[in-house]
Amino acid sequence: MLELSNVTVRYGQHRALENASVNVGKGEIVVILGANGAGKSTLLKAASGICEGVVTGDIRLDGTTLTGLAANRIVDAGLALVPEGRGVFPDLTVRENLTLGAYASRARDNEKMTLDRVYSLFPKLAERGKQIVGTMSGGEQQMVAIGRAMMSNPTILTLDEPSLGLSPLLSKELFQNLARVRALGIGVLMVEQNAKQSLAIADRGYLIENAHVVHQDSAANLMRDPAVQAAYLGVG
Ligand code: ATP
Repeated sequence: MLELSNVTVRYGQHRALENASVNVGKGEIVVILGANGAGKSTLLKAASGICEGVVTGDIRLDGTTLTGLAANRIVDAGLALVPEGRGVFPDLTVRENLTLGAYASRARDNEKMTLDRVYSLFPKLAERGKQIVGTMSGGEQQMVAIGRAMMSNPTILTLDEPSLGLSPLLSKELFQNLARVRALGIGVLMVEQNAKQSLAIADRGYLIENAHVVHQDSAANLMRDPAVQAAYLGVG
């Protein structure tokens, strides 16, 4: 279980996130919605230890305190990030990209087993193992990015705008893939602009406005909420 309690992030004088509390259980998909600049990416960066700002508050994964740990130690603790823009190596093959994801000590010893698990999760990656990633479609590259994050054997997978630039059809496929990750008992925390498709597969969601978590509810209730519909679902 990932628990962020009263997390505040400051960039100089600017508070990008204030007293934010968010949690993600095992086998749960949680979506963070909010306008541009609300603080969504900052929250994910704070959790994964790559935030340039000053982070205060309590961030724990299964009881281990993550606040203040170096990014690689956070991966070792079981939290993986798929950054915005995917962060894959376009000149390397699928297999090479996946292998690079296994640097975490929790994965290194079981690299073969982990690779087999990722291939069984995403059989297309096994078929395309030798393909240069830069020659793949956006949807396929996103699958490589998720596969690479899965190579660290995470208990929580976090993703920053994974559907960005994908067609509705490819986004649907992406979200279905995340549902398969959830089925392994892994918690998924994602920031998404595509509220409609992400809420359709999510269990719960949070709304962030002006650095504050202003609302949280089940995904089903959020989809029915008139304010959410007007702001994020293009209804009304
Ligand atoms: P978007 O949907 O546009 O990515 P977001 O909700 O993810 O928005 P953040 O990227 O978390 O927003 O940014 C929150 C606020 O913090 C913004 O005002 C942004 O300009 C500011 N900010 C983000 N990163 C930095 C940084 N490294 N230095 C200074 N300010 C920053």
